[in-house]
Amino acid sequence: MEILIVEDEKEIAQLINNCLTREGFQCHVVYDGLSALESAKKIQPDLIILDLMLPKLDGLEVCSRLRNQAMTKDPYILMLTAKGEEIDRVIGLSTGADDYLVKPFSPRELVARVRALLRRSMRHGGQSQIYETPHFIVNLDEHTALRKVGGKEETLDLTALEFNLLAVFINYPSKVWSRTQLIDKLWGADFFGDERVVDTHIRRLRKKIEPNPAQPSFIKTVVGVGYKFEDE
Ligand code: CA
Repeated sequence: MEILIVEDEKEIAQLINNCLTREGFQCHVVYDGLSALESAKKIQPDLIILDLMLPKLDGLEVCSRLRNQAMTKDPYILMLTAKGEEIDRVIGLSTGADDYLVKPFSPRELVARVRALLRRSMRHGGQSQIYETPHFIVNLDEHTALRKVGGKEETLDLTALEFNLLAVFINYPSKVWSRTQLIDKLWGADFFGDERVVDTHIRRLRKKIEPNPAQPSFIKTVVGVGYKFEDE
């Protein structure tokens, strides 16, 4: 697995590099947005760790150009942000990033996020890798999700985490999930960040799968507990 690290603060870049190299990933480091685009093309990484504030081109611009650039692999993008308004910019906009991490973060948290993104298919021992409900077909082997609309099937354009979230829901229909349980499923027990990250991904997933995201018919909020998925 190859990872491209884009971070202009050299100490942080080095820290991330050491931490992920120790975990067995092959890492490349660049320090500005333009070099990020060039290296991404050359290396074709599996994952890009992308700082938001960068010289030459900022992270959001790099992200959207990466998404429009022809790549042999479609890399996962983990965005790094500082505390404050930047977070709202990253969450609020449809940046094309798969996940984000707020600085300062611990090496354990970084590794947990990276592993969650790279865990392409979630295995559930012995069970089928294709889940079908009246409105959705999720294929864990091929990592595709389809929505059935008016007798047709349309492909859902989901980020890695949105896909994993939908897969978890569909795998356990009508189960009521707390945010902590969803975090355990998606990021593993190593996660210790803000639980609101779950709400962010739920909101984005609803936008993509619900006919009316304001009144969800599939992903229901269970007041005081969390969420459940229903597709009768
Ligand atoms: Ca920076």
